[in-house]
Order: sequence, then C-alpha cells, then structure tokens
Amino acid sequence: MHNTVFIFLLTTSVLIFISLAWAGIVSLQEKEKRAASRFFTLALLLPIPFLLVSFFEFPYQMPAGIILLVLTYGSAIVLAAPSGKKRLFTKPVTSTQIDERDTMFSRNELIPGTDAFKAYYKRKPEHKKVDDNFRAKAGLLQPGTSQYNPVAFASADTSFATIEALRDRVNGPVNKQKTETVLEDISQYIKNWSKKLGAINCGITELKSYHIYSVGGRKERRDKPVVNKHKYAIAFTVEMSKEMLSAAPAASVVMESGQQYLASGVIALQVAAFIRNLGYEARAHIDGNYEVVCPLVARDAGLGEIGRMGLLMTPKLGPRVRISVVTTNIPLAMDEPLNDYSVTGFCTLCKKCADACPSQAISFAPQEDINGVKRWQINQEACFTLWCTLGTDCGRCISVCPYAHPDNLLHNIVRTGIKNSSAFRKAALHLDDYFYGRKPVPAPLPEWVNTKQS
Ligand code: SF4
Ligand code: SF4
Repeated sequence: MHNTVFIFLLTTSVLIFISLAWAGIVSLQEKEKRAASRFFTLALLLPIPFLLVSFFEFPYQMPAGIILLVLTYGSAIVLAAPSGKKRLFTKPVTSTQIDERDTMFSRNELIPGTDAFKAYYKRKPEHKKVDDNFRAKAGLLQPGTSQYNPVAFASADTSFATIEALRDRVNGPVNKQKTETVLEDISQYIKNWSKKLGAINCGITELKSYHIYSVGGRKERRDKPVVNKHKYAIAFTVEMSKEMLSAAPAASVVMESGQQYLASGVIALQVAAFIRNLGYEARAHIDGNYEVVCPLVARDAGLGEIGRMGLLMTPKLGPRVRISVVTTNIPLAMDEPLNDYSVTGFCTLCKKCADACPSQAISFAPQEDINGVKRWQINQEACFTLWCTLGTDCGRCISVCPYAHPDNLLHNIVRTGIKNSSAFRKAALHLDDYFYGRKPVPAPLPEWVNTKQS
C-alpha cells in the first residue's frame, strides 16, 4: 500500500468518526435520542472499511483503497456542488385580497342565532356544515379536549388574554412634531432595535393590496372594509421554542403559540408607537387584530418563502416562528424577497408535514394555481376542527419539518446544502427520515410543564 493512499484512508476514517460523533453529541444536546444513537452507531461502523483496507493485506489492496476514496470524495463533491435547474422564481403576482371573515378564527367568533351568524351563512352556505362540525367539538383551550391540561391551558389563556388587553394599543395619536429621518438609517435602526427587543429577523416591503384583508372579520372590525393607506410594511419574526413544539400536539404547543404571539405583538406595538412618536402614522398588526396577512408581508419583506403547509419558511428556523407586522408611512428602505426556489423545491419532494398531519389537511399534490399564484393551500377547516378536538393548535406539521431543527452549525450545514444542490436536497430528505423518523414520535411534555393535579 502506497503511503499517500494509506494516510488518506486513515485521515478519512478519523474525519468520518469525528464528524458523526460530533453530530451525535449535538443530537444528545437537542434531546434527539434516535438521531444520537444512529449517529454514534454510524461513527463506529463507517470508518471500519477504511481501517480494514488500510491495515489488512490482501490482493488488490491498493486499488480497493483508491476506489473507496474516490467513491467517498466523489459522492461528497456531487452532493456539495451547486446543482439543479435554476428555475426562474415566479414572483407571486396577484391582486386578490383575502376576506378575513372566511378565516377560521373569524368563523369561530360567530355566535349561533345572531345577525352576523345568519348573514355569514346566507352568503357562504357551503361553510355551514363544516363549521357546525367544529362547533360540535369542545373547542380551543376547553375542558373535554383530548390534550386538556388545566395548568398549561390556563397559561396559554393568560398569554392570549394579555394580547387581548393590548388590542386597543395597535394605533394611537401621531406626534404633531415630526422628526426628519434618513431613510436607510431609520430602517436599519428599526431592524437593530427590533432584534434587541427579541425579534429573530425584521424586513421591510412596500404594502400591496393583496397583503391587506378586503373586509374585517374579527370583533368590532367584522363586516367593515379594511382601509389601510400606509405605504410600507415592516415584518418581525420571533422564534418558537423547539422544546415546546416537540411535544406537538400537546398543551405546550398552545402555550408557546400564545407566548410568541404576545412577544411578536409587543415588538410591533413598541415599534409602531415609536414611529408615531417620530411624527408618522403607524399601526401594529398583532394576534386577533390583523389588517394584513402576515406570512405574505413577511415573504415579500425577504424573511422567507411560503412552504407546503402554507406557513412562512424562514432560512434558519423554517416554520418555527411567529410573525407580527407594522404598517406605516415613515419613509423606509425596502428589502428584496429571497426568491429562494430551494424551499419550494424541497417542499415538493419532502411532504413530511402532509404525512404527519393528523387531520390530512396538508396536500400531497404539487403546487396549484390559486388566484393567479402557484402555491399550496391547506384544508383550514380540517385543521381547525382538529384543534377544537385537541384543545391546542396542534403544530405537528411545524414540529416534524426538516427546516425546523435548531439554528446551529450541524443543521446550518444541511440547510446550506439544501439551498445549493438538488442532489443534496434528495439526500437530505432521506437522511432526515433516517435520523429523526418519517413520522417522529412526539416528545413528552417538557417536565416543568407536566405539573401534577390533585
Ligand atoms: S415538512 Fe417538508 S414539505 Fe412540509 S413544509 Fe417542511 S420542508 Fe416543506
Ligand atoms: S396544525 Fe396539525 S392539523 Fe393543522 S395542518 Fe398542521 S399538522 Fe395538520
């Protein structure tokens, strides 16, 4: 055996061992037991062929060593090299506005027998039967649901009640004394400050008609046309805890949703109030009081793409975020959308959320043309009906998504590969299934959430 080949074989076996053992340790830290045990097993097994070829003499030892090295580094190059059709990203262009009254939360607010109830189902009789179905269930955060946990539900309820208490703060008087600002500077300031306040990311876009609901559907805004003449929209994302979501669809998910709706809402309220203080109009859009469709604004503001489950898929946390928005007239520098085809490319292959969805609300089909936009649309009725049975907002789709792994070196290497190479996308999907499971078993409720009730 030639010395160079011997050294290459030995070095490769050590590199494989170290990389896989490191991935195993990271998985242990992430409490991913299945992934950890598989990484450690592979760390022990995969170096064996390299060691055998290095140390055991047999006929054609040298060619065998060279073939092993060529196969190993060849596969690595194929996976790492940028590949795949650079399809032109078709920018979603639509003028269709969503009527907020058709969203499930608006329909859930309708009280049988009231004028609003009768008027809605007169206009949309096709929704009556399916809505009666979710109304027959116990309901979100209610006793009698399958995931009922009085302490956890009370915590979630408190977060939503706090958001409700802030409802009237979304708008307010504008300071008559205007502060002249420099477009780029104030834009960057808002981004930096929002991150200091807890946002993961912040982006700015021009407010378009399709961002805005046509007619309001919640509380006092019901049946009133939405009028928002602001020129800009600022979107903020905050992280949802991986630990709380891993137990999906258990009660920790709705606790985390409430908490992060509140956290993102408070950031929006502060930034909107700050802009009004500078002498410009600004309105915060927070849970239960949106005039805009947050994922569409966030996508156009460059914070992510819309994936198979219809949620914003961010580059570092996938769908594991909550969003709030501020619309305003203060002059701002706009961001470009990511136009990252790799997300929809990966979603086209993956379908893991569709497999894991307990209500079969997520489509397995390719993107459809909906109101002039190629996208996926979930069955919101099926999803919401399940929520009313569980008592939580489920979140299984978010918890199993391969993009939702923690933002760390291990998963960012995978995310970079997915972004750059179609070959890597295919491999990553199989590897994610292998290490984490096609339908990962939900983790137990975090210990501190699982309080005893007498
Ligand atoms: S689970 Fe897969 S298909 Fe579903 S959103 Fe995530 S990446 Fe896309
Ligand atoms: S939240 Fe649950 S029911 Fe709704 S789409 Fe996701 S997995 Fe399906």
